[in-house]
Amino acid sequence: MIRPILAYGSPVLKKKAENVNEDYPNLSKLIEDMWETMYASNGVGLAAPQIGLSVRILVVDASPFALNEELDPIEAQTLETFKKVFINPKMIKEEGDPWTFNEGCLSIPDVREDVNRHEQIMIQYQDEKFQLHTEIFNGLVARVIQHEYDHIEGILFTDHLSSLKRRIIKNKLTSISKGLISVDYPMKFPKKSKLK
Ligand code: ZN
Repeated sequence: MIRPILAYGSPVLKKKAENVNEDYPNLSKLIEDMWETMYASNGVGLAAPQIGLSVRILVVDASPFALNEELDPIEAQTLETFKKVFINPKMIKEEGDPWTFNEGCLSIPDVREDVNRHEQIMIQYQDEKFQLHTEIFNGLVARVIQHEYDHIEGILFTDHLSSLKRRIIKNKLTSISKGLISVDYPMKFPKKSKLK
């Protein structure tokens, strides 16, 4: 089931999300819905708060990035096959030279800005069977995980921008929260006028 994605300004996007355990109701259905919602909006990642649930679950499918011809073959191969569910992730380390990439977010349609992030991460998480993993990821895969991980910490990519940049896009963000944009996937807008 495709669920509506909550837009910029929704309070749940500013909240630190809670861990889940194996008894979380309908967990496998929730994960299935997250995949379906992510693919329907052409995203490469989705965090549960983006569909209104303040829990620490992320899904990432980085394969669309593998089409970039400038990548070296090994990174392209990694991206091609990278599809993972992260339950209760915990960022252990972020290191390596910060690099810039033009990011977007399904909750903030039509806004893309350059964001600096560290090159490498070490993250601990549970998979769908609640097996614990600790893994190191680099480059674009790390980037997508960092972006999604931010969501469960109540952080949006726009929070990483300079105050000048934020001032420049402020009106655009307000329009998004009011639903004054056109978007081709289902969304919920926190400040949409109910009079329409
Ligand atoms: Zn996002």
